[in-house]
Amino acid sequence: MIEVENLIGGEYSTAAESFDDICPSDGSIIASIPRTMMVDDAVKAAENAQPGWGALSLEQRADWLDKIADALESQHRQLAELEALDTGKPLEVAMEVDISRSIENFRFFAEFSRNMPEEVFEMEDATNTVLRKPVGVVGLISPWNLPLYLLTWKVAPALLMGNTIIAKPSEITPLTAHRLGQILCEIGFPAGVVNIVHGYGPEIGQSLVEHPAVKAISFTGGTATGRLVARTAAPMFKKLSLELGGKNSSIILDDADLGLAVPGVVRAGFLNSGQICLCGSRILVHSSIYDEFLESFLAAVSELKIGPVISENHMTKVLSFIDLAVAEGGDIVAGGLRSEDDGFHIEATVITGLSHDSRTATEEIFGPVVTIHRFDSDAEAVEMANCTDYGLAGSVWSKNRGEELAKQIESGMVWVNTWLHRDLRVPFGGIKDSGVGREGGMWSLGFFSEAINICVKHNDLQARV
Ligand code: NDP
Repeated sequence: MIEVENLIGGEYSTAAESFDDICPSDGSIIASIPRTMMVDDAVKAAENAQPGWGALSLEQRADWLDKIADALESQHRQLAELEALDTGKPLEVAMEVDISRSIENFRFFAEFSRNMPEEVFEMEDATNTVLRKPVGVVGLISPWNLPLYLLTWKVAPALLMGNTIIAKPSEITPLTAHRLGQILCEIGFPAGVVNIVHGYGPEIGQSLVEHPAVKAISFTGGTATGRLVARTAAPMFKKLSLELGGKNSSIILDDADLGLAVPGVVRAGFLNSGQICLCGSRILVHSSIYDEFLESFLAAVSELKIGPVISENHMTKVLSFIDLAVAEGGDIVAGGLRSEDDGFHIEATVITGLSHDSRTATEEIFGPVVTIHRFDSDAEAVEMANCTDYGLAGSVWSKNRGEELAKQIESGMVWVNTWLHRDLRVPFGGIKDSGVGREGGMWSLGFFSEAINICVKHNDLQARV
């Protein structure tokens, strides 16, 4: 049994009241989580640490990111085991996706900063120099689906730009954030620069967003929570980054290479039990290849071994969407049931026969459930893909027309003949109800800094001399 503690100002503390962390694989209790309202203390610690951390050079802070990456790398397997325990995902997924990427997040931003061009804009009679100052104390709120991966995607750029942090991981998956805090203490990372507070989202998350001294909130989570965060933060003019939900289409055109498309679309539908915001849960297939695609797709799905969904509540929600699909006239052609008595397992589920604008096909389910729909022309595929309120991601599978079609999809990111192929320099984020702002490369560094322009007029200086 692990005892999760808050990390504030380099010190660990528990709380009088705590609640259970449940393992999704078998429903057992694996940790106790403090239920506290220590946001004020965390803010004070972060405020005290900020001048010292902000005074380091960019290069010194980049060196720290590399040291953190080294420390995480030395515990790659142990961290993956914790992530697998907390989320129920297979150990290989935790090793290869979650922890590898968490390490890369620190390495990437360290290296990126070393190659950042100076922002100097010459005029005929003046020189503009852009300085990037820290925002100050920033709040980072992250979800349960890729716990350490998504938290470190915020921590690394926030630290690099000289901010101090209060991180609020999801109450459902606190273990790797807790371990990250311990690792920071072990490597002598300056106290108070990273503070980690645990507890319920509507309590501790909400009070972090409400705190006037927290100057920016970077939030990844559901659209409904994002709306609440925006409503709370906007009157205080906090900087706000919102990475929200998605309902992404995988589009298979008539000239697709099915040898590539079928495994790609299966992976996009079911990786992490369909609990990735980028998952392609609505599959649009050209009528001329529909039967051939469906046969190969179902054969591949029948071979899948997937982990549980994250919690009992979430399992109930996902199963209720399967019931909704039946009520809406859908045919369950694979899966559809809870698959084991212990834990929160749901079979990989494939639904056909639904209208592309049904609730099942347009609302975010965030589980191992995909719907498949037919189209007859590229224009119809675009119309079907764009008919949801979301606009996060998508993929197009085609030998010749993929890029052209991708440009017409209303989403922040579209892959052609691949999925989840990431270059960390490029903008990551959604449009419509999928969010506001972008993360990645310079977009993250821009969010976590205040750009200040200094304009020096040459003539005035010369005149004075
Ligand atoms: P939630 O919106 O429920 O929670 C996200 C985070 O917000 C959690 O840490 C949660 O804490 C916290 N929180 C809850 N209520 C509040 C509040 N009132 N104020 C501040 N913080 C609060 O999302 P889930 O954790 O269920 O994650 C799944 C969602 O995240 C999906 O919709 C998915 O699409 C989206 N997502 C988006 C991504 C993107 O990049 N666009 C990437 C990954 C996921 P607690 O858990 O303790 O309640």
